Amino acid sequence: MTQTAPTPSPAGSGPSAAGARPVVPRRGARRGAGLGEVTLAADGFWGSRQRTNATATVQHCVDWMERLGWLANFDAVAQGATEERERPGWQFSDSEVYKLMEALAWELASTSEPAAEELLERLTARVAAAQDEDGYLGTCFGHAGQEARYSDLEHGHELYCTGHLLQAAVARGRTHPDDDLVTVARRAADEVCRSFGPDGREGVCGHPEIELGLAELGRLLDEPRYTDQAALFVERRGRGLLGPIPLLGPSYFQDDVPVREAEAWTGHAVRALYLAAGAVDVAVDTGDEELLAAVRRQWDRTVERRTHLTGGMGSRHQDEGFGEDWELPPDRAYCETCAGVASVMVSWRLFLATGDVRYVDLVERTLFNVVATSPRSDGRAFFYANPLSQRVAGADVRPDEENRRAEGGTRAPWFEVSCCPTNVARTLASLQAYVVAVEGDAVSLLQHASADVRVALDAGGELALRVRTAYPSHGDVDVEVLEAPERPVALRLRVPGWATGAHLLEESGTTTLEPGFAEVRRVLRAGERLLLRLPVEPRWTWPDPRVDALRGCVAVEAGPLVLCAESVDLAGGRDVGDLELDPTAGVRSADGGALVRARLVDQPAPGPGGPGAMPYAASGPPVREGRPVDVRLRPYHRWAERQPTTMRVWLPVV
Ligand SMILES: [Zn+2]
Repeated sequence: MTQTAPTPSPAGSGPSAAGARPVVPRRGARRGAGLGEVTLAADGFWGSRQRTNATATVQHCVDWMERLGWLANFDAVAQGATEERERPGWQFSDSEVYKLMEALAWELASTSEPAAEELLERLTARVAAAQDEDGYLGTCFGHAGQEARYSDLEHGHELYCTGHLLQAAVARGRTHPDDDLVTVARRAADEVCRSFGPDGREGVCGHPEIELGLAELGRLLDEPRYTDQAALFVERRGRGLLGPIPLLGPSYFQDDVPVREAEAWTGHAVRALYLAAGAVDVAVDTGDEELLAAVRRQWDRTVERRTHLTGGMGSRHQDEGFGEDWELPPDRAYCETCAGVASVMVSWRLFLATGDVRYVDLVERTLFNVVATSPRSDGRAFFYANPLSQRVAGADVRPDEENRRAEGGTRAPWFEVSCCPTNVARTLASLQAYVVAVEGDAVSLLQHASADVRVALDAGGELALRVRTAYPSHGDVDVEVLEAPERPVALRLRVPGWATGAHLLEESGTTTLEPGFAEVRRVLRAGERLLLRLPVEPRWTWPDPRVDALRGCVAVEAGPLVLCAESVDLAGGRDVGDLELDPTAGVRSADGGALVRARLVDQPAPGPGGPGAMPYAASGPPVREGRPVDVRLRPYHRWAERQPTTMRVWLPVV
């Protein structure tokens, strides 16, 4: 940690659309670009997804929440009608409304779509009308016919919902002056501080999230009480304050080991990651180096041993949780979309705090292979779980019904527990904030995306760049300088950890680059161009032998993309389970994916010992006939887009 005194940021935390961004630490010289400082090109990989998010996903989510009565829950509280009306939705359905409002607020930072503005104002009015006199805001507890407030901290999700309310207000407050939503959030945060402060109840919420909301609202409003309350929640956790829950131990909600003592992330993955993100916020703002070091240690251990190739986190369906070290089964991978979003949140905060490029590498892996995998290309259906192997093709999901299962191999329009669609929405709406970072006179291009960049340098002046690339399909990133100060500045281009043999082409010559940051530090002239050439040709990836479930298998990646085989690409109705890859035959690029040589084996039917025999034999592995085939591997993030299919990322070797 290199922070010393708080460093004022030129595009600070006030309501300036240009400088608005989700995370604004109180200390540290490094900052993410404001949403108005980076415009993603509409035809780029991320720009097109952001557009679909704005034009389809946001309204899709509003329509579902209206239809299911989750929005009307606020009206019922406002009208005092909670006794006569049965409340639909889970205890945490309010949070989906808040996440959607956050998405709208970020979206409005870069566009000023009147319909979106009007929608956000309407939603704010409905939410505000449900706030109690003392600031409490929630539609599930504390009103006529409902259980008492904070009577079920294990499952009630009240503080979790409030955390999302505060995050939504931060988005609004940073992009719009003097807004009602900020007033609502301030009153809600004050109520939390009164109820759970040093003189209040010694409790924590079963689902972390309030920590993040309080920390960021504290930053927005320059209110240290909120930061202190967030720190108190982080400190209280891991001390057994939550009651027992059936089948799952206290590690499910990280209440078994104090945050600063934990070695790795355990339990419910989204909970663990939201808590870690909040802990980084607290650590940075209070200068708590021990706490920051603890989260960095947990990141190291978890990425080394508990993270899937896609960047996905979570190996167990029972508790949507992390497994033990090396427990990474591809078919039972859970990899909830929200855990991908949360992992990005943690890594982003750690990058801002440390400048370590590894955090940005994981952000990239997770964005391309988890976050981008969830939404269907029309933005109106989503994956919740993201396994790396699908044994049975998904059954068609009905477009007019909530999906009751988190898994299933088909993107669904909505879920009974529908946390993922709105999490995708708020992430895509603010995505450009993660593309560029500024530190002093250095500008870092962190994610390679077609974008127009105009950032304010801390020492004055602006650097304007036009970045054009077909990445990740193509590895060339063309950076044109449009405007630069007449003094030396640093332009840093991230070379991902997988990129061996990357090059930088300038007028003065070509440089071979190592993974990390390639830095050009000199006077930049308007009109000059730099070309970053990244090797995105497909490559083999081998698992650590300690990951038992992957032993004898290999995967193929191309640039930041994980590739997969789908049965729809196999002739004759054959299954991906019949494939054995031949790595000696090489791997070739093919239309955004790869072509590999494989053996298509005939499986002994029905078992090696005849009908009804167990699938085990003393005579050694069965000999199977097979024939060579060329197999097309495609980007994992688009799997099951054409039709339900079986799928494998990891394939056995011949
Ligand atoms: Zn989710």
